[in-house]
Amino acid sequence: MSIDLFVFRRVLCLGLFPGFLLTPLAAKDYYVAPNGSDAAAGTEAAPFATVQGGQQAAAPGDTVFIRGGTYRMAEAQIAGHVGPYACVTLLDKSGATGKPINYWAYPGEHPVFDLSQVKPRGQRVTAFRVNGSSLHLRGLEGVGVQVTIATHTQSICFDNEGSDNVYEQLSMHDGMAIGLWIGAGSNNLVLNCDAYRNHDSVSEGGRGGNVDGFGFHGHTGSVHNVFRGCRAWFNSDDGFDFINSDEAARAEHCWAFYNGYSTDFASLGDGNGFKSGGEAGRRVNQLPDPIPRHVVIDCVAVHNKANGFYANHHPGGIEWLNNTAYRNHINFNLRGRDPKDNRTIIPGRGHRLKNNLGFAGGEEVAEIDAAACDAGDNYFNLPVTITAEDFLGLDEADLVKPRKPGGSLPDVPFLHLAPGSGAIERGVDVGLPFRGKAPDLGAFESGG
Ligand code: CA
Ligand code: CA
Repeated sequence: MSIDLFVFRRVLCLGLFPGFLLTPLAAKDYYVAPNGSDAAAGTEAAPFATVQGGQQAAAPGDTVFIRGGTYRMAEAQIAGHVGPYACVTLLDKSGATGKPINYWAYPGEHPVFDLSQVKPRGQRVTAFRVNGSSLHLRGLEGVGVQVTIATHTQSICFDNEGSDNVYEQLSMHDGMAIGLWIGAGSNNLVLNCDAYRNHDSVSEGGRGGNVDGFGFHGHTGSVHNVFRGCRAWFNSDDGFDFINSDEAARAEHCWAFYNGYSTDFASLGDGNGFKSGGEAGRRVNQLPDPIPRHVVIDCVAVHNKANGFYANHHPGGIEWLNNTAYRNHINFNLRGRDPKDNRTIIPGRGHRLKNNLGFAGGEEVAEIDAAACDAGDNYFNLPVTITAEDFLGLDEADLVKPRKPGGSLPDVPFLHLAPGSGAIERGVDVGLPFRGKAPDLGAFESGG
C-alpha cells in the first residue's frame, strides 16, 4: 500500500481522524424515561417518554436506553393497527446487518411496561409489535396486557414478524396475553426470557385456552428461529407451542412448568410444557411439505397439567434430545396423525428420541410407535430404574430462582443427577457436548 494509505489507516486505528468526518458513522445513544417527553432531544438529561419516540430518532447501529421505572401505557399511545391488533408500541424501523438498533434497559435498571389500562373495545392488543428486522430488545418487562373480546381472540405481549431480531432477558407476566409470539421471520433468537402467570380470563369463558408462554407459528420461509434459556410457568394454556407452523423451530435449554393451571392449580387450558408440533385443523392438501421437524434439546418440563413433551397430533417426526420430564400427567406423549389424511390419530412415527430422562409422571411415555421411530437410549426403554435417589435435588422452588448475572438460568441442583445414578453415561453421542465417556440421560450433564 502507499504511504499515504498506510498513514490514513494508522490514523484511523489510533482514533485520530478528525471528529467531523467520523461523526456520521458514529452510533448514537438515545434515552427514554418515565418522566421524559417525546418532544425532548432524547439525551440522558432530556429523555424521550416512549420507546416509540426512541424509534423515531434511532438509526441502524444506535442504542435506545430505557430507564427504570413503570411506564403506564394509555390507549392514546396506541401507535398503530395491524389487522385486528391495536399495537401499543410498533417497531417498524429496521436496523441493518451488523448494525442493529438496540432497545436496551439502562444498565442496572428495570423498565416495566404496564398495559393494564389499555383496553380498546373490540380490538386485540399487542404490547410490542416488531415488524422491523435487525433489532435487539433487552431487559424489558411487559405486564398486564388485556383482552377485551369475549369470543375467540388473543392478545400478545411481544409479537415478532421481522428477521434477525434478538429478544433477550424480557419478562412477560401477569397479563392476559401470549408472552412472546413469532408469527413470521427468520433467524430470530429468543434468549433468556421469562413468561409467567398469563391467563386470559375474559374470552371464551375464561379458560385461557390461547395463552401460551412462547409461540412459534411461522409461515413458509420462517427458518432458524430459536428459543434458548427461556422459562414458562403458570401460563393458562401451554408453555411453548409450535402448532400450525410451516417451518421448524428449536427450543434448547428451556424450562416449562405448571402450565395449564392457575396459581392455585385450578385447571385452565391445555397444559403442555412443550407442545412441539401439530397441524390439526389443516386439510391434508394444506400440510407443509416437508412436515416441519421441530427440535427440542436439553429442555425441562415439570408438573404441567397434561403432557411434559407433546407431539400434539404432529403428522411427522420431531427431534427430542436430552430432555428431562418430571411429574407431568404424561411425561412424553408422541401422539400423531396419519399424514395421509391428517385426521386419523396414530401413535407417533418418525421421531428421534435420544437420551431423554423422566421421573414420577402420571404416565412416563405414551402413544409412540417405537418401531417407526429412532427411540432407543431413553429412560423408558433402557434397563434403568429412576427413583428420587437419582437426583441431587427435587425442590421445585429451584425453578423460579433468579437468573444469573447476564441472564442465564440459575445453577440449581434440581433434577441434576446424583453421583452413582444409573442415568449417568447411559446416553449416546447425538452431536451435543457431553462430559466423560458418554452423554448422561436428561438435560443436565453430571460431573461439572
Ligand atoms: Ca396453546
Ligand atoms: Ca457423561
